[in-house]
Amino acid sequence: MSTFETFISKEEIQTRVCELAKKIDEDYQGKDLVIIGVLNGAFMFLADIVRELKTPVHLDFISVSSYAGTESTGKVSLIKDIKIDVKDKHVLLVEDIVDTGLTITELLKLFNQREPASLGLASLLHKSSKTKHDVKIDYLGFEIEDKFVIGYGLDFDGRYRELPYIGVYSES
Ligand code: 5GP
Repeated sequence: MSTFETFISKEEIQTRVCELAKKIDEDYQGKDLVIIGVLNGAFMFLADIVRELKTPVHLDFISVSSYAGTESTGKVSLIKDIKIDVKDKHVLLVEDIVDTGLTITELLKLFNQREPASLGLASLLHKSSKTKHDVKIDYLGFEIEDKFVIGYGLDFDGRYRELPYIGVYSES
């Protein structure tokens, strides 16, 4: 049987999302911003962030895979690419979680090759104790300890993404 407890509440997430959106608005004032969501996990965070932004944005989504169950496979494969040409554009990648940092490191490499005017990173969560690849997160929601979390876009084998809060997953 699966059980989980609330880890970060809906209200805490909402407050943090508003703070991050305010900072993004300040930083990208007067600029054309392209926001790229990393599917599937970032869909809810991205949807909440863009609704708080005053800056007009272009949106697209990319999908990569690196996980099976609760473990990283160590390899990143591209499942769905974006349609927007990001050359000379201000790009902000939106991730759900940076764990080992492998996925986002590969994505940052890919986007840098496409020569954007600037490349920023927003991530809802960061597990710094697990990070093997150093990553600069410009807009971080929450630093968390090494627990497998679900909800608010994050899944366990495809389930629990719809939860409006973040929970800790454990099998008993
Ligand atoms: P990394 O490549 O940084 O090790 O892992 C990044 C990806 O692994 C995330 O985009 C996410 O899909 C998945 N991931 C890492 N930690 C967790 C976690 O605690 N919960 C869930 N649901 N996914 C995680």
